[in-house]
Amino acid sequence: MNAEYDLIIIGAGPSGIFTAYETKLNAPNTRVLMIEKGYAIENRRCPKRLTGKCANCNPCNITTGFSGSGSFSDGKLTINDHGEVGGELAQYIGLDQYRKILRYTDDLYVKFGTDQHLYGTEDEEALEDIRRKAFQANLKLIDSRVRHMGTDKAPEIYLHFQKELERMGVEMWFNTVVSDLIIENDTQNNKVATGVILQDGQRVKGKKIVAGIGREGSDWLNLMCKKYGIATRVGQIDIGCRVETDAAITAHIDSLLYEAKLVYYTKTFEDKVRTFCWNPRGEVTEEKYEGKLAVVNGHSYKSESLKTANTNFALLVSKHFTEPFNTPIEYGRYIAELGNMLSGYKVLVQRYGDLKRGRRTTTDRLRKNNIQPTLKDAVAGDLSLVLPYRLLLDVMEMLEALNHIMPGLAGDGTLLYGVEVKFYSNQLVVDKNFQTNINNLYALGDGAGLTRGLMQASMNGVCMGRILTGAW
Ligand SMILES: Cc1cc2nc3c(=O)[nH]c(=O)nc-3n(C[C@H](O)[C@H](O)[C@H](O)COP(=O)(O)OP(=O)(O)OC[C@H]3O[C@@H](n4cnc5c(N)ncnc54)[C@H](O)[C@@H]3O)c2cc1C
Repeated sequence: MNAEYDLIIIGAGPSGIFTAYETKLNAPNTRVLMIEKGYAIENRRCPKRLTGKCANCNPCNITTGFSGSGSFSDGKLTINDHGEVGGELAQYIGLDQYRKILRYTDDLYVKFGTDQHLYGTEDEEALEDIRRKAFQANLKLIDSRVRHMGTDKAPEIYLHFQKELERMGVEMWFNTVVSDLIIENDTQNNKVATGVILQDGQRVKGKKIVAGIGREGSDWLNLMCKKYGIATRVGQIDIGCRVETDAAITAHIDSLLYEAKLVYYTKTFEDKVRTFCWNPRGEVTEEKYEGKLAVVNGHSYKSESLKTANTNFALLVSKHFTEPFNTPIEYGRYIAELGNMLSGYKVLVQRYGDLKRGRRTTTDRLRKNNIQPTLKDAVAGDLSLVLPYRLLLDVMEMLEALNHIMPGLAGDGTLLYGVEVKFYSNQLVVDKNFQTNINNLYALGDGAGLTRGLMQASMNGVCMGRILTGAW
């Protein structure tokens, strides 16, 4: 048994990093241990970047290691003053605090090396024009600005964070999986978290336990919730496709905003569909869940030499399920499995023209297409055999609406990749201090279903660190 830590943080993603940073800043003598199943930042490598072939690393280097899913992400830091993008933090801390923490966190990212340039702050007239066209097509353009780290630069920036945490005295254990929690009863018979158990059976004691385990750890956290009666509520699931088009089609938006956050309520089902993770002149990527399930994502590089001729973004349908259904993660996985079944555990790609004509895309049709896929090993196929009718129609209706502000987007050559699914659906019930119904067990970030992006996950960590040290 190790000596007791004041704080154990499970997961070194942005939520965990900022918890550690803010804790040490406000209470330097706090004994903080951070446990991460992936590698330290300098050792994180995705073999696919060199070979073009996924090596099925377990754990996946894209989603695990210091800075979590943030390291190889596109590194778009979305700044929205109304708390409408990337999570529900504003509901927990109120808009005034939200705005203060947003400024503070953004300044920290700049201090640690993120570009000063903020997209969405220039040329108000051009922005107004996009907003008007969006309105005419029943789309809502969410007011937000973007600071872009870039997939190539984000690891450098997070390396500065890692070094700073080391300097501050945060103990970090990499390649270490937390496989269980230690939950005991206190003198009043209340359940209280007192430590964690590692994969090799080692028990580590901590006065407070923070779970910042991201989507990568959501299955494990679900198990913990069932085992220890940690309260959850059924969350939403976001599922859909990734769209890839010629960068000329989106150029006016890319240069002005970098990313357009657009929301649409579909004609037929009135479902909410939104654009997500916009990558100007970027690449579509494959992400592996549980070392096997291939789902689609995307990123873009900062350096001019690494940019492509295409822009990609996701179209995600947000589904809230009601009683008696309570397993939205399984629902999302089931649909992704269906796609994988047809493609041999690869991402599927289909031309929009083929989808409209009710036929599959073949390798030959793809070869002749005017837009070439940046995800080279995507398998040409038929998304209508994978996505339920309602979801597919939602995506198609959104694409047609977007065509009003980006003429040509709904053209035959536009590529749709599937399935893109966000496994953050089970929300933990936490109080305003992010404490669960188990004393001294806190949950935050994407894994707790509270956030859905780098900025809010990082901000959640800032709040956590301040709360734990009484600096709130
Ligand atoms: C490819 C990709 C691109 C993205 N691009 C963007 C973008 O441009 N902009 C944006 O805002 N967001 C983006 N995101 C989302 C963003 O990365 C996440 O919202 C953010 O990283 C969430 O932070 P987190 O701390 O909650 O979780 P994570 O970053 O997922 O970190 C959780 C960490 O916990 C570790 N962990 C889990 N379980 C255990 C366990 N049992 N034991 C030990 N360690 C464990 C994991 O290994 C992981 O490192 C992207 C995500 C991906 C995958």
